[in-house]
Amino acid sequence: MTQTLSLNDPIKASEINPKFRLELSKIDGSEKILQCFQCGTCTSDCPIAKFSESYRPRQLIRMAQLGLKERVLKSETLWLCASCFTCTDRCPQDIEVASIIRVLRNLAAEKGIFPTVIREQANSILESGYAYKIPLLREKKRVQLDLPTLPKNDPEKIRIILKKTGIQNLLEKWENNFGE
Ligand code: SF4
Ligand code: SF4
Repeated sequence: MTQTLSLNDPIKASEINPKFRLELSKIDGSEKILQCFQCGTCTSDCPIAKFSESYRPRQLIRMAQLGLKERVLKSETLWLCASCFTCTDRCPQDIEVASIIRVLRNLAAEKGIFPTVIREQANSILESGYAYKIPLLREKKRVQLDLPTLPKNDPEKIRIILKKTGIQNLLEKWENNFGE
């Protein structure tokens, strides 16, 4: 992913896209974004925010409300959310915070912006059907331990699914944007 402005860098007026919050308010999952009154409950209860110095769901939502579209979509912190839904359960405004994060990620991915690790997992699924390649050593160990062999996938069928769902297209966008 490209290195971008930090969420804490000063905001320039030219960055603000006033239509962004309206765009979000029309997408399934982020309809209630304008109802966030910045109480901070989502951040204070978020297990990732407890261990990260940069991940703050409240901050991402505020920046999205302000229209800082590019900055939010290019933020690496967007991908730290573990989708545990604690924030959604505790928001006093009944906002689906985790869904907003999902929507923001989807918008980023549509632009071909997503972390290398996700691209690698998607490529691994394309090639082998598994998100992580299974080392030969582990397969040998299973045989030694008399464990059943792991089921084989059909990468061709998986390729068809990834093509139809548009994931292959996103991978190509990533390669065009950030590939070497
Ligand atoms: S808990 Fe809800 S209202 Fe409070 S900051 Fe988070 S999203 Fe906004
Ligand atoms: S869903 Fe994401 S943002 Fe919400 S509490 Fe869990 S890790 Fe934090």
